[in-house]
Amino acid sequence: MLIEKYGIPQISTGDILRKAVADGTPLGKEAKIVMDSGGLVPDSVVIGLVKERLAQDDCKKGYILDGFPRTTPQAEELDNVLAGMNAPLDTALSVDVDMGDLMKRLTGRRTCKSCQQMYNLHFSPPQKDGVCDKCSGELYQRDDDQEATIKNRLEVYEKSTAPLIDYYGKKNILKSVEGTGSIDDIFNKICSVLGS
Ligand SMILES: [Zn+2]
Repeated sequence: MLIEKYGIPQISTGDILRKAVADGTPLGKEAKIVMDSGGLVPDSVVIGLVKERLAQDDCKKGYILDGFPRTTPQAEELDNVLAGMNAPLDTALSVDVDMGDLMKRLTGRRTCKSCQQMYNLHFSPPQKDGVCDKCSGELYQRDDDQEATIKNRLEVYEKSTAPLIDYYGKKNILKSVEGTGSIDDIFNKICSVLGS
């Protein structure tokens, strides 16, 4: 919805990484071992991929970074890269979600093997169990959406990612919204804090 409204791409390091894993590149192979156990892929790998992506033409008007940075060192490195491009970040957006709700979102997530469309068994289930509405592909649970892995991810989040709230708060670019309600509600709240 944000892509459509602002006419800018969403850059998900998860997607970039999964593509590298699927393509079986050297960096992809390295990343897979870490991702499967819910850990964080080395910064040198991630920042390299992000830097390449931001240099592409469709990012000239702006972009949405999704899932990156996840640690203070990554945020500092990103700031360095962006300073070099003379284009600092405008906004860091924090979407605050209740822990029980978050577990449902993560454990309920299913992805289409063919077209990567995402579903959630609790919030946005497919019409037919285990089958993609769009392409009839098979739905599966990603390795990093398994419960034990999610617990590890949440611990990693508390330790490594939560400090970014302070990091961007101090730079006065942090905007927060409550991540409750329907997708439309959350979208409207985000548009409202973005002030456009
Ligand atoms: Zn599909």
